Amino acid sequence: MSSARVLVIGAGPGGLAVAAALGRRGVPDLVLERTDDVGSSWRGHYDRLHLHTTRRGSSLPGMPIPRASGRWVARADVVDYLERYTAHHGIDVRTGVEVTRVARAGHGTWALETATGESFTGPTVVVATGYNHTPVPPAWPGVETFRGELVHASTYRNPAPYRGRDVLVVGAGNTGAEIAVDLTEGGAARVRLAIRTPPHIVRRSNLGWPAQGTGILVRHLPVPVVDRIAAVVARVEVPDLSAYGLARPTTGLYSRVLAGSVPLQDVGLLAAVRARRVEPVAAVESFDDGAAVLADGSRLTPDVIIAATGYRRGLEALVGDLGVLDDRGLPRVHGPRTSHDAPGLYFTGYTNPISGMFRELRIDAGRIARAVARR
Ligand SMILES: Cc1cc2nc3c(=O)[nH]c(=O)nc-3n(C[C@H](O)[C@H](O)[C@H](O)COP(=O)(O)OP(=O)(O)OC[C@H]3O[C@@H](n4cnc5c(N)ncnc54)[C@H](O)[C@@H]3O)c2cc1C
Repeated sequence: MSSARVLVIGAGPGGLAVAAALGRRGVPDLVLERTDDVGSSWRGHYDRLHLHTTRRGSSLPGMPIPRASGRWVARADVVDYLERYTAHHGIDVRTGVEVTRVARAGHGTWALETATGESFTGPTVVVATGYNHTPVPPAWPGVETFRGELVHASTYRNPAPYRGRDVLVVGAGNTGAEIAVDLTEGGAARVRLAIRTPPHIVRRSNLGWPAQGTGILVRHLPVPVVDRIAAVVARVEVPDLSAYGLARPTTGLYSRVLAGSVPLQDVGLLAAVRARRVEPVAAVESFDDGAAVLADGSRLTPDVIIAATGYRRGLEALVGDLGVLDDRGLPRVHGPRTSHDAPGLYFTGYTNPISGMFRELRIDAGRIARAVARR
């Protein structure tokens, strides 16, 4: 059994930011990471991904992302930054340690059980295992009759395996939309995008002003006000593509964010739909004799289905019996606050903010470090 003053679970940007902020306050901590490297989620994202938030608006505490990475930082540069960040702050990361359960150990102490049987104890635990933790597989009735290839978007890297093939991407979030564009540019024979709820689409930047900047400015305004402003802006900057099968959303942008769905930042979808390279189709409802049956009754038999059907937080196994999660599986309290009956147990990275997650992780890291140092 090992012990540490602060145990941080997860060496993604959230966990590393907290560890760095604690280190700057002289509070010793140990980061436990299940994979062999820091920043594992960014190592696994698709090749062409860039941050949608700006370089400046995505830097973690105590070390900016280098200017050379440009305004929209490439995935590989995010990984490189996280490695350098860890070295720069001398963060103590133990890799290959999967925490399986956080348990009360009495006298204000927590015990972390791990997959290898080793356990760790300490008075303070920061859970930073990621909002996008466990891929959600599609649960369509009859899907077992589909004779093509079905993959989750989390396994998609680049279009090479799909060249010359008929691909149906399911889910029009940021990931599904960008994969659809990537496929058309990478030589897929046909690309359709199945959409259940028309997404809110925003320009990544307008006259040099980033969408993230608007998100930061409006985030504390009343939701109906932001919804109205967003609808007006969308009419000006986003063309009406209803004739191409991409309708305008009927619910407000900020209302949708609060329900868990961030707007889609356009990195090529609008042009691809207008050029009919990406064909929007109705949502997949079920499968019948190998064919995908859509909400409008049409039937498709693509070669490949890429399900961009999202992720779960996956916190139930870890902390589900501690009474700290709400009925959506999210921590009841977040950042520097702890539950009344779980003192010393902090969570970071379980919101989906309109202002950018890296920015929120940076702010939370400072606040958590301050709260821990005060304890
Ligand atoms: C495709 C995509 C693009 C995004 N783009 C942006 C963007 O442009 N700007 C922005 O601000 N945000 C973006 N985000 C959101 C968010 O910033 C990132 O997901 C970010 O990586 C979250 O950091 P995190 O540390 O909270 O979680 P993660 O990066 O997921 O890190 C969690 C870490 O915990 C480890 N772990 C998990 N479970 C355990 C366990 N039980 N024991 C030990 N270790 C464990 C994981 O291996 C991982 O290393 C994006 C998200 C996705 C999916």
